[in-house]
Amino acid sequence: MIMEGGSMAVIVQKYGGTSVQDHDLVLRVAQRVADLRKRGNDVVVVVSARGETTDRLVQEARRFTDAPAQRELDMLMSAGERISMSLLAIALNSIGCPAVSFTGSQAGIVTDTRHTDARVLEVRPFRVVKELEQGNVVVIGGFQGVSTAKDVTTLGRGGSDTTAIALAAALKADLCEILTDVDAVHTADPRLVPTARPIDEIAYEDMAELARFGARILKEEAVRFAERTGIEIHIAGSDGNHTGTIVLKRPHGEEPSVVGLSLLENQILLSPRRSDHALMTQWMESAGSPLLIVHSGDRVDVVMSRDTPETSVPDDSLKLALDMTVMDVDVVAIVGSRAACGEVITGSIAELERSGTKCICSVATGRSTLLVLPDGNGVRAELLLHNLLIGSGQ
Ligand code: ASP
Ligand code: MG
Repeated sequence: MIMEGGSMAVIVQKYGGTSVQDHDLVLRVAQRVADLRKRGNDVVVVVSARGETTDRLVQEARRFTDAPAQRELDMLMSAGERISMSLLAIALNSIGCPAVSFTGSQAGIVTDTRHTDARVLEVRPFRVVKELEQGNVVVIGGFQGVSTAKDVTTLGRGGSDTTAIALAAALKADLCEILTDVDAVHTADPRLVPTARPIDEIAYEDMAELARFGARILKEEAVRFAERTGIEIHIAGSDGNHTGTIVLKRPHGEEPSVVGLSLLENQILLSPRRSDHALMTQWMESAGSPLLIVHSGDRVDVVMSRDTPETSVPDDSLKLALDMTVMDVDVVAIVGSRAACGEVITGSIAELERSGTKCICSVATGRSTLLVLPDGNGVRAELLLHNLLIGSGQ
């Protein structure tokens, strides 16, 4: 969407790492931004680090130690976005569109002190506003801020989305666009489910659930931020050829029972068979925030990412003391207004059973049902359930 004919609008655009990956792509983004500016809009651009830069920086740090100092890791990771933002500003200036770049700190993104996973507390965009008033495009490095202790922080992987939404809210932007290599949010990951369809409009709460359970298009935290501040998010391809998806409070038109599915692989299910309250508490306190906690009677089963840092998985003595089994699992999430109703749950479990997959356990809350499946069954289950609950729509 573009504001037409001289109607001054404040537009925040976020470009993902693949959209600024090489010289030609940066130039293409610069031309698109310059065009928007020429039409009379105030434009703020948030950029991610190019391609795999952030991963590479983390790997480089890990060559010294498995546990790099978190403060220094933030310094290092924030450098990826600095490269993107300065190159884009250079490209914009080179084509005659005046632009300045700012780090998160310079843009006034103030966070708490939690290194590598900080929360935005406040945005003080004075310098951004001043530059816009002077007619400049402002390019901002996503994913980073400055803590209340004046250190550089990062906002957790995928955090540039949060930067864009926090800025859009602080600037009371007319439009907040997240532009990426996928042209819309789909009913399932189109690489896994060929019949997945683009979704025109989706409610914040459904988008947040899909993001939490594996849809990588948008960070969950960013969706929650948008929901709190009432910012509508427009997700579209960075090539500008598709209308994409709008994330908003209430979609127009009739709501489908199930709006989409997502998949989380590489999870583990921890099931203590001895119910020892003290030991359980000791472990749960060290376990951080697991994906799912299934509490029933004396039993507490927990699902968490296999990649969670070592400290979260109980050590061998605790495992033994709790007589704990550990199993690799996949989790499929079914999301939508009636995704947690009995019919959807029993229908889905029966369909999976017919195809030879036994659901280990399921959790239904609000607008989602989560099915915990034996490792390696997730993709096939997603295909089957998409067929059953959403269909091809042809
Ligand atoms: N560059 C960071 C990451 O790879 C942040 C982002 O892309 O949003 O997670
Ligand atoms: Mg992303």
